[in-house]
Amino acid sequence: GVCVVGSFMKDLVVRVPRLPRRGETLHGTEFAEFLGGKGVNQAVAASRSGARTAMVGRLGADGYGQEFLALLAAEGIDAGRVTVAEGSGTGVGLPVVEPDGSNAIVIVPRANATLTAADIADAADRIAAARVVTVQLELAVETAIEALRIASAAGTTTILNPAPMRPTLPPDLVAYADILVPNAIEAEQLTGRTCDGDAAAEVAVALAAKFARRGCVLTLGERGSIVVDGGEPVWLPAHRVDTIDTVGAGDAFCGALAARLAAGDSLVDAARYANAAGALSTTIPGAVDGIPATAAISALLSN
Ligand code: ADP
Repeated sequence: GVCVVGSFMKDLVVRVPRLPRRGETLHGTEFAEFLGGKGVNQAVAASRSGARTAMVGRLGADGYGQEFLALLAAEGIDAGRVTVAEGSGTGVGLPVVEPDGSNAIVIVPRANATLTAADIADAADRIAAARVVTVQLELAVETAIEALRIASAAGTTTILNPAPMRPTLPPDLVAYADILVPNAIEAEQLTGRTCDGDAAAEVAVALAAKFARRGCVLTLGERGSIVVDGGEPVWLPAHRVDTIDTVGAGDAFCGALAARLAAGDSLVDAARYANAAGALSTTIPGAVDGIPATAAISALLSN
């Protein structure tokens, strides 16, 4: 199965005619709540792709935390190593969206930031039982390192999704990452090179050499993804779909990739499947709501 060590974020989204000025009170036009956070998005994606899935993370002792526990139960995700912080609330994200879809986002990690290396040690059974572990960077970096270290010691394949990017990736994080899965922006920050045009394939090769033990899957939005697993880079073109909301595409991709790797696929085959999952996720608004299941993914792949 898959074990996701990661975040829970309740997103409270407002739509505005324009961003407010300092000191101004502005009328928004819409308000919506979504369950999100890279960790839980990836866990839902792995589970909907057929993997037995466990989540390791921390919620607040509040109503949002209850909503997440209900989601994990409904999705059949093992929440036995999800703990509840007494002193802090569930993480929140506050996106402010302008009419053209561009946004400004404030995130407050809250309980996510209190998940410690000791908590990871307590979850070692779930990490060791999984064939694949995925970790993102919405947690304390020491916590992310500990998750990859324990997984490596147990022989579990590790996927590092370096999102959101930090100015540098600590060497310890890289030392325990088997497969790096960045998007174009993260890849550019890591290498200092652009992913424009054909240059992306070279960037993927450089990332695999420098930031992972086994390989790299570079995601490129509507340009698809590039897989490097030892040999020549393999470019997987994006599926043509009716895209309406790209939020969470990378998470749908990572979770689906982990599920197929756990099922024994090669990295290229797993990425081919994840490429379809990522595309489908853009056809439905919302992050968790838009994560596709195996039936739809297989149907797109056999088209
Ligand atoms: P992120 O959501 O982290 O920015 P990307 O935008 O690279 O990540 O998207 C992840 C994957 O989702 C892509 O590699 C691709 O497979 C799929 N995807 C994203 N946007 C589109 C799109 N407009 N059309 C088809 N597939 C897409």
